Formats: sequence, C-alpha cells, structure tokens
Amino acid sequence: MSGFRATILTLFPEMFPGTLGQSLAGRALERGIWSIEARDIRDAATDKHRSVDDTPFGGGAGMVLRPDVVDAAIGGVADGRPLVALTPRGRPFAQSDARRFAEGAGVILLCGRYEGIDQRVIEARGAEEISIGDYVLSGGELAAMVLLDACVRLLPGVMGAAASADEESFSAGLLEYPHYTRPADWCGREVPDVLLSGNHAAIAAWRRAQAEEITRARRPDLWAAHQQTTRTQDSRPAFVASRVGSS
Ligand code: SAH
Repeated sequence: MSGFRATILTLFPEMFPGTLGQSLAGRALERGIWSIEARDIRDAATDKHRSVDDTPFGGGAGMVLRPDVVDAAIGGVADGRPLVALTPRGRPFAQSDARRFAEGAGVILLCGRYEGIDQRVIEARGAEEISIGDYVLSGGELAAMVLLDACVRLLPGVMGAAASADEESFSAGLLEYPHYTRPADWCGREVPDVLLSGNHAAIAAWRRAQAEEITRARRPDLWAAHQQTTRTQDSRPAFVASRVGSS
C-alpha cells in the first residue's frame, strides 16, 4: 500500500492510535489513506530485565533512554522516511513541517520518556529534533499525535473541501479571520454586516483585513515574518525588470 505511513517508537504503544482513530484522521485511517504502527522500544532491549533506561552520567534526577536500545529499535523500522525525535529542545513544529512530511512517504517518530534520550543516538541516526511548544510533557506520545494530526489532515482526500487548507491559519503566514454561523443575532451580538452582504469581493477584503489585524495584535513574530516575505515578493519583479532594462 502506498499511503502515508507513520511508525512510532514508544514505551507505550497501546496509547496509539488514540485520538487519531477518531473523526477526520480515524476515517482516513479506515479508508487506508494512511497507516499507523506503534512499536515498543522495550522489544529492542537485550538483557533479561528488558531494561531500556539508565541513570544519567554527571548525576541528576531521573533516567535516560539508552542509546543501544533506541538504536536497535530505530534499526528495525528505518527505511528512508524522515526520523523525528520529539523533544522540548527541538525546533518548534510549524505548519510548513506538516506540509513537508505530508508530501512524503511518512515519518518515524521517536518518543522519549523520563529525562529523555541519550543524545548520541539522536546524532548518530541524524534524527530531526522537533518540539511542539515551550512546555514540558511527560512523554513524546502526545507530541507525536499532535504532529501526525497536523500531517494527516493535509493528505489528499482527507479534508472535505479541497480549498479549506489553503485559507486557514498559517497557510499564508497569517492567523485566520474569525468565523460566524447562524443565528445572525445571538443574545444581541450580531454578525458583521459585510458577511451578510453577498458581496464576495468585500467579504474577501474584510477577511484579509481581519487576518492582518489579528496577526499584528496577537503574533508580532508572525506579522514581522509575513511583512518580510511580502516585501521580498514585491521587490522581485522590480529587480528582474531593472536587470532586463540595464542589459
Ligand atoms: N528533561 C527534558 C524533558 C523530558 S520530558 C528537558 O528538560 O528537555 C520526556 C519526554 O517527553 C521527552 O523526551 C520528549 O520526548 C517528550 N516531550 C516533552 N515535552 C515535549 C515537547 N514540548 N515537544 C515534544 N516532545 C516533548
């Protein structure tokens, strides 16, 4: 089968597919658009106690997942798909990552527990270190589900309206405009007039202005990046034109 394949290396394989077995992702799973396999890292342990962790060199609290065991677990599934280690020390996960992964054959996700994973195996295997946000979870499993949910909804045939992914938050580097539905008057709160006008150009302009305003107010970082790309795009044709003109 050629769909998007997710393999999860975890100490808690029974946590999967979890929420990914429901709703949009769950239906896509049933239809074979993607598949998921959770493998127990403990199956790669070799000693009689099946131990996967040990105390940290240099001291300190907690336990660290052993590089030899994790390496053997990765070796059992590695096949050229991107290998991602979920860790708060990683690069922040973004919509562009979800898009990139969704365009490929799938991903192999390595979930830490306790204090994390021995850094040497992450480097030796060339794993991409990704964080889902600036907070600490007790394990990588929820982070893996977040990453997969963001990827799966972008797979062809998963979302109902083909266009819906192009309009939503982050797709143009902006947060999305607000949504409203019936009733038009709810507890004295009315829907913005323009949305009832039937004037599609005016609606598009209003939505655009709302998206810009909300991004500027809530996410100065996204707004700055958006302005940067808009400027680059605007200047490119001028640059080409001047080159042509001067030759
Ligand atoms: N001692 C580590 C935290 C370990 S939390 C530190 O301070 O960096 C245990 C595991 O949970 C991690 O190995 C990782 O796989 C997962 N995890 C916790 N927070 C995460 C986050 N924000 N993003 C991705 N994975 C996370």
